Amino acid sequence: MRVMVTGGAGFIGSALVRHLVLDGGHDVLTVDALTYAGNLESLNPVHDHPRHRFVCADIRDAAAMRAAIGTFRPDRIMHLAAESHVDRSITGADAFITTNIVGTFTLLEAARAYWHGLAPERRAAFRLVHVSTDEVYGSLEGGPGSGGAFQETTPYDPSSPYAASKAAADHLARAWHRTYGLPVIVTNCSNNYGPYHFPEKLIPLTILNALEGKPLPIYGKGENVRDWLYVDDHARALDLIATRGRAGATYNIGGGNERRNIDVVRQICAVLDQLRPAAHAYADLIRFVTDRPGHDARYAIDATLLETELGWRAQENFDSGIMRTVRWYLDNRAWWAPLRDAYAGERLGLYAPERTMRQASA
Ligand code: NAD
Repeated sequence: MRVMVTGGAGFIGSALVRHLVLDGGHDVLTVDALTYAGNLESLNPVHDHPRHRFVCADIRDAAAMRAAIGTFRPDRIMHLAAESHVDRSITGADAFITTNIVGTFTLLEAARAYWHGLAPERRAAFRLVHVSTDEVYGSLEGGPGSGGAFQETTPYDPSSPYAASKAAADHLARAWHRTYGLPVIVTNCSNNYGPYHFPEKLIPLTILNALEGKPLPIYGKGENVRDWLYVDDHARALDLIATRGRAGATYNIGGGNERRNIDVVRQICAVLDQLRPAAHAYADLIRFVTDRPGHDARYAIDATLLETELGWRAQENFDSGIMRTVRWYLDNRAWWAPLRDAYAGERLGLYAPERTMRQASA
């Protein structure tokens, strides 16, 4: 199979590319604009691999998308390129609108033109997998394991600029299937964690701040619940869905590992106490800080459709996955140290209406 992966230098995209090339034996073209979140070091394991090539291109660039697709002639396109950090979307939503919405539209149009010109057999087998998030569904009530879970039929109700931009992109992807017949599959996945995760998100930020003896910030009371999925389980699910999923379908992907944020941070501290003991308990560094505006209370995924129809199962549970993740950061300082120089973990996404209004009138 010839697979084009957009956003393949990012956290999940690079896990998918490594899986497709090294485990799947596929020919892969990674297309990525290398924003702050893109990192070619994450593709080191496939660097120089004869089945992998890389093109630096922006999904908002229609000519570049047509050229990449037309030259590589993929059997599948896996679309992961996006602005992905909720806090950054609160600070400034522009790139979220242009990349997540306009960029997805641009890619869909380039894919449609290419797909239209394929021979009937390749046309029927072609798939475009649009990778999205459970955040489009909004917020659930309750604590871990109580109060229901998102299903593929749950109505969209996004809270953040990030989630709203992904929701818009999902609607476009489904419309391109219904209107033009483009064989699109949409996936909505819960929070991912694992190696090569840019240290602005909760888990890598906590690990690295702890190692550097810095405060471990917890938004609000730390009671927000997320359903955690190890990133390689997500990559395996995406490969399976691209191979055997139905065109036009939506699949929810989730690990069934609901945790409160405070419990995630405490567990990381406990693992570090064991693997890298310090003079103090790492949990002493925990600090409660101002909550995120519009912070969703709880996410949980019902992955029954993916499990029953395609036989997918997560291989990692949270205990095994978090242990692997912490070990990886301990062993791979060379990957994350330069990123910490560029972004040391400053607070993002605090909404200051007075400041915004002053800037607007200046
Ligand atoms: P990431 O921020 O780590 O990576 C995004 C990648 O996209 C980067 O390599 C970046 O350089 C690239 N990119 C950004 N704008 C681009 C543009 N205009 N053109 C080309 N490339 C561009 O994100 P991630 O966490 O790996 O998420 C990947 C996808 O999965 C996203 O679509 C995200 O919405 C979705 N998702 C993420 C999670 C999660 O927990 N991280 C959960 C569910 C779904």
